[in-house]
Amino acid sequence: MRGNEQTELDSFLVERRKAICERMAAAARRAGRSPDEVTMLAVSKTVGPKEVVLAWKAGYRAFGENRPQELKRKLEGIEAYPELRGARFDMIGNLQTNKINQVIGKVSLIHSVSSVHLAQSISKRAAARGLRCDVLLEVNVSGEKSKAGFSPEELRGAMDQLMGLDGIAVRGLMTMAPAHDADGARRTFCGLRELAEALRADTGLGLEVLSSGMSDDFHIAIEEGSTLVRLGRIVFDPGYELR
Ligand SMILES: *Cc1c(COP(=O)(O)O)cnc(C)c1O
Repeated sequence: MRGNEQTELDSFLVERRKAICERMAAAARRAGRSPDEVTMLAVSKTVGPKEVVLAWKAGYRAFGENRPQELKRKLEGIEAYPELRGARFDMIGNLQTNKINQVIGKVSLIHSVSSVHLAQSISKRAAARGLRCDVLLEVNVSGEKSKAGFSPEELRGAMDQLMGLDGIAVRGLMTMAPAHDADGARRTFCGLRELAEALRADTGLGLEVLSSGMSDDFHIAIEEGSTLVRLGRIVFDPGYELR
């Protein structure tokens, strides 16, 4: 990045963050919720470590990555910046079992636990290292074939088994909504909230984290109970237009 490009990105990140925070707060208020109930994750998967540093300076504190290799590149790239030691990284993407060791102990939360098998694999590796891994269970609420995750019925049946695993703590649920379909997105986010309520009643777990909403639909997700939005393009891409 040349100096003037960097200054432009600097001010873009700051201005855009302000606009996103305003929209998040407005969505929370529309639903009678407090804006502080919703955490924002800046999804840095398409940018480099330099942009993560600039985003930190613009006020972002939590980042999401979807590939272990990119996570490693970011963590190495920010080592030279002591102020970024407090930066939070989450794993939001599909995780292969042979990559689990590259992720556990480095991230605050794994959003994408999409099967009992993956949960067991994380459990085994975390327990062997004396770690406790906070995880979310990914749910395919919309039922699209292309999407990963538990079906809601399947998850209700698997909770006992998941809760019994050492080395992992189930903190909540995550979902992805259908693209370009506002009504479908709302049904999906609402379905996630209702499923969380049912699971809380079934299990007594707090399940306090609902990870839902991306650039195109975070306002709908917040209206429907999201506590954590995962924002990529809207944060980092000057070509992404705000609506
Ligand atoms: C890329 C990605 C996002 C961010 O998507 P945008 O539409 O760019 O905001 C959110 N969640 C997951 C799982 C992703 O892979």
